[in-house]
Amino acid sequence: MKCARDGDFSKGELQRFGNIEMNPSAGVLNYGQGLFEGLKAYRKEDGNILLFRPEENALRMRLGAERMCMPSPTVEQFLEAVKATVLANKRWIPPPGKGSLYIRPLLMGSGAVLGLAPAPEYTFLIYVSPVGNYFKEGVAPIHLIIEHELHRATPGGTGGVKTIGNYAAVLKAQSAAKAKGYSDVLYLDCVHKRYLEEVSSCNIFVVKDNVISTPAIKGTILPGITRKSIIDVARSQGFQVEERHVAVDELLDADEVFCTGTAVVVSPVGSITYMGKRVSYSDGGVGVVSQQLYSVLTRLQMGLIEDKMDWTVEVR
Ligand code: PMP
Repeated sequence: MKCARDGDFSKGELQRFGNIEMNPSAGVLNYGQGLFEGLKAYRKEDGNILLFRPEENALRMRLGAERMCMPSPTVEQFLEAVKATVLANKRWIPPPGKGSLYIRPLLMGSGAVLGLAPAPEYTFLIYVSPVGNYFKEGVAPIHLIIEHELHRATPGGTGGVKTIGNYAAVLKAQSAAKAKGYSDVLYLDCVHKRYLEEVSSCNIFVVKDNVISTPAIKGTILPGITRKSIIDVARSQGFQVEERHVAVDELLDADEVFCTGTAVVVSPVGSITYMGKRVSYSDGGVGVVSQQLYSVLTRLQMGLIEDKMDWTVEVR
């Protein structure tokens, strides 16, 4: 679905997936003025389609747009566009338990701008793709390496919003890690090089003595919607959850580590390598806390348990 340019997002239309035309001096191509979102639609046994907290994606895009000097669709416009795109692509949603439809909204400065400035026109579009598991390991443990030379975000930068440049910044470390057989990279803060930040595309949690800790949101990590949901789910399951500075040394004697994100859902971490030293968790299996939280979250997202928090939205 493609909405009108110039910041008026009220008139959208459905188009067949394909290439889009772009002015070579578009703001997004030259100055990285672009944002995206990621959410999923699940098909239920009764045929209904569920989105998970889509208004949170709309709000995050609006916050990001403010940081990137762009106008953005209203929450209502965002939701309407997502629903229309999902309905038009209903046939691509996998059967229950077989995956989901990944939805990718994009907002970008599409107007021509030669000297550095915000673009004069904007485009909001959404495309979708059926997906299975994000990591080739599936729900099996993933293996991370800590990067201490390259950083994805700096204080005062754009690490806290979902702008395209943040992902360009991780490509080098991520490709090197994958070439060595790791699943992904875990970043440290760039000031002290001591506190955990996040993985290239997901947030991180550390479990010790049944207390779950995760790095606090302070502008350099993405405020993940899954992160926020898992904090609430974990508290409702009786766990103590702390949002704070989590030092890299705490990984040495953690009981369990897991990552959260729309794509990765809850992914247990099997090992973390730092400065050539590898620490393993949960005896190479899936930790009990990760398993419990994964199971509650996925059943909620798929409409298999009562949605007491009112997080799911039916697409009609
Ligand atoms: N951090 C980064 C850098 C991400 O790209 C993502 C994926 N959107 C997340 C964390 C997790 O966010 P969410 O749970 O909203 O998908």
